[in-house]
Order: sequence, then structure tokens, then C-alpha cells
Amino acid sequence: MDILALNETLVTYLFGTSIIAIVLGVYFFMKFRQARRTISLISEADKTGKRNPLLLHPQFDLAACIGCGVCTKVCPEGDVLGLVNGKVAIVHGARCIGIGECARECPVGAIIIGLGDISTRDDIPQLSENLESNIPGLFVIGELTGMALIKNALAHGTSVIDHIHATGSENAHVVIIGAGPAGMTAALRCIEKKIDHTLVDQGAPGGTILHYPKRKLTLVQPVKLPLYGTLNKGEYTKEKLLEMWLHLITKYKINLKEPYRLTAIDKTETGFIVKTDKSDIPCTHVLLALGRRGTPRKLNVPGEMMEKVAYKLIDASTYNDNNLLIVGGGDSAIEAAVGLAAQHGNKVTISYRKENFFRIKKRNEDQINDMIKRKKIDAIFSSQVTEIHEDKVILKKGEDVIELPNDYVFVFAGGIPPFSLLHEIGIRFGEVVESKVDVN
Ligand SMILES: Cc1cc2nc3c(=O)[nH]c(=O)nc-3n(C[C@H](O)[C@H](O)[C@H](O)COP(=O)(O)OP(=O)(O)OC[C@H]3O[C@@H](n4cnc5c(N)ncnc54)[C@H](O)[C@@H]3O)c2cc1C
Repeated sequence: MDILALNETLVTYLFGTSIIAIVLGVYFFMKFRQARRTISLISEADKTGKRNPLLLHPQFDLAACIGCGVCTKVCPEGDVLGLVNGKVAIVHGARCIGIGECARECPVGAIIIGLGDISTRDDIPQLSENLESNIPGLFVIGELTGMALIKNALAHGTSVIDHIHATGSENAHVVIIGAGPAGMTAALRCIEKKIDHTLVDQGAPGGTILHYPKRKLTLVQPVKLPLYGTLNKGEYTKEKLLEMWLHLITKYKINLKEPYRLTAIDKTETGFIVKTDKSDIPCTHVLLALGRRGTPRKLNVPGEMMEKVAYKLIDASTYNDNNLLIVGGGDSAIEAAVGLAAQHGNKVTISYRKENFFRIKKRNEDQINDMIKRKKIDAIFSSQVTEIHEDKVILKKGEDVIELPNDYVFVFAGGIPPFSLLHEIGIRFGEVVESKVDVN
């Protein structure tokens, strides 16, 4: 090999290694920057209390995680997960609603969706793998178990009735309390399996869906509904879902009693007596499908009884040219504020007792921050409503008293969940056996 050829090889070699070194340098720099950003997000989320998951959330097998980051990109809620030191980590656990894209897309199966360690929690009933409580014959299904989402509610409703059917249901009478997605599904499955049933609800059928804002698009992962078939469109409007429930109630003659409010359950030798505010219903099995909304929490301030005070917003477009106060800082409050601010001539103020918005979806956080910046919405943090009058509201912020002109007040202060009723019934909390109901 002559000198010229050797030089050429050397130059090519040096050029090649330099390119590789630059590419690797850029790659590691990007990784480093990404990890630093994630660590700063985690520390921020820790401070604001957004890191701890509430209900269903991803749990990892870190030994199996290859740090590809697919899980961090597919999450529709955004920033629930991040990568630190080449491994997945929880960033905003409170934003997780258990959709499970991360688990489905993980190429090495290192993620499962579950409730994690709930031994110290007093809001998750202790259930067997068939969702039976510590009281034999009394089951808990749907969101009350700690598992949100319509697909889980439907899977629970079907599987519990299948379990009752498999264990002998010739003389069974099942009382299902709650006509949301879980209870409705259980009732349909009873009809399909020819099991005697009564479905009761304190309000109208539809459950939480009834309280969604008008035309809200609801994401429903493909799931089978007894006597109907598979819900596989991906997105349904609130109205479409409700129309479907009402149609099924009439078509299959669901034995629905409403408005009947559950007040107590007594155990008898042969089953139960379900006590409601209207009548007592004897039965062999009870399914509690009460959801977690409970009754809306009130402000307990003078003027709250006025008609202008509401605890939900169904149709923002009916409010124009009004002074409006939203009380609360969760997702429902933010969605209502954004919806109302988009209508003609409204002046929207949010009063929130905390220092910042806490545990809200990324999409809502971005939207509200943008609207506050553009002065479309005013947010008064660390404030409380003290009085409501015909044409004004009075807020207190520290020592300051703030008076605002007002036409309507919307209170989104959460609900009082039905846990005390469950305690009275004798249901134990806090030690869940992983459910064997297939919700995937
Ligand atoms: C704003 C919002 C948006 C959502 N969007 C989606 C979405 O896009 N996709 C999705 O999959 N999930 C979504 N969810 C979650 C979903 O709505 C719930 O997970 C689902 O409705 C739970 O069904 P459930 O039958 O367990 O309870 P619920 O739907 O809450 O129904 C419970 C029923 O029990 C009744 N009840 C309660 N107490 C009593 C009593 N003492 N006596 C008699 N009846 C009683 C209630 O009146 C109610 O009808 C959303 C939730 C909210 C709040």
C-alpha cells in the first residue's frame, strides 16, 4: 500500500470515527437533557402533590425495562411517565386514569396497570378476585372498586354475573344498586343469563355519564356490552351513550326502579334485604355499582340555596353575557370555566382554595394557563366563598375581602363518596386481592 492510499484510509477512518463520536455525543447530550427535565418535573410534581397516583396507574418491572421511552410517548394524558437513568419513572401519577396504552405498547411487557399498594387506603374495598366483598354474596363493581373507565365498569358487570351464574343461580335474585355503566351491564347480563334482577338508582339511569358536559366526546376502548355487541367506535358523544342505555332499558325490559336511594343492607339467613328510601327489596345477591361521585360537596355558606347555584354544568352555550363564578380547581371546574369563557360576553372567575391547580389533566392545565394568560379567565387562588347574594359574591383571600358581581355560581368541590354507607354495611377496606376480571 503506498503512502497516498494509507493517508486516504486514515482520513476516512478519522472522518468516520468523528462522525460516530458526534452522533453519540448528540445522542447522550439529548438523553442527559431529557433526564434532567424529567427530574425537574418529578421534583415539581412532588411539591405540588401531583406525583402520587390516585387509583389505577402503571407499575414497572425495572429489570425488564429497556428505556426505549415508548410508554412516555403513547400516554394520552401526557407526562404521566418519564425516563430517568434509562429507566421509566412516574412523573405525574395523579394524571393517570388507567387507560393502559403504556402497558399495551411496552415492547418488553415491563408495565402492568394496577392499584399498587393499597394496604393503607381506606377508600378501596377489600375484594376477592371475583370482586366479592368480605360479606359473601355482596359484590362491588365499577369505579367503586378503584378502577375508573367505562370499559372496566362493563367488564366488571359482565364477569360478576357470569360468576353468580356459574355458582348456581336457579333461584337467585340479584339487586344491583347504581344504573351507571357497571350496573346497567350487570342488568343486561342477568337478562341474557335469565337471572332475576332489580336495578335501582337514586337518580336517572346513565351514572356519571349523565353529568358529563353536553356533547362531550367519551373515549371507550373496545369492549363487549351484553345483548348489544362490541362498542368499538373509540369515541361516542355523551348523548349517543345515554340514548343507547335508554334504548336497551326499554328493549330488554330492564327491571329499573328509580329514583330509589340505597340506605342500608341487612343480611338474612337466605340472602339480604336491600333497604331503600322507597321500599325494602329481598334478594340473594347484591351488586354495589355506586361509583365514587357520591353527593356533591356543598360550600355551606349563606345564599347557597339560591337557584343560581349549581353543582354541575351541562350546557355552557346557554350562558351568555354573564358574570360567572366557578368554585373549585379540579378537571370538572376547569372544563366548565373553559367552556363558559368560550361563550359570548361571559366574565369567568375561578375561586380555588389551593395555591395552584392540583391534579388536573395536562390538556386542561395547558388550556387554563393559556386562558388566564390571555385574561379570558381570572383565577383567585387561596380563596374561599363566604357569601352568595342575588347579584354578587363575597370571597375571602387571607385578610382580603373580595366582592365580585355575579349572575351564576358553579360549585365543583368534589363529592362526598359513599364510603360511610359501605362501612355501615360492614364492608372491609384496604386489602385488595388482584382481580382476575379481564379488563384488557
Ligand atoms: C368528567 C368525566 C369524564 C370522563 N370521561 C371518560 C371517558 O372519556 N372514557 C371513560 O372510559 N371513562 C370516563 N370517565 C369515567 C367514567 O365515567 C366512570 O369510570 C364510569 O362512569 C364508572 O361507572 P360506574 O357504573 O362504576 O359508576 P357511575 O357511572 O358513577 O354510576 C354510579 C351510579 O350509582 C348511583 N348511586 C350512587 N349512590 C347511590 C345510592 N345510595 N342509591 C342508589 N343509587 C346510587 C348513582 O346515581 C349513579 O347512577 C369520565 C368521568 C368523568 C367524571
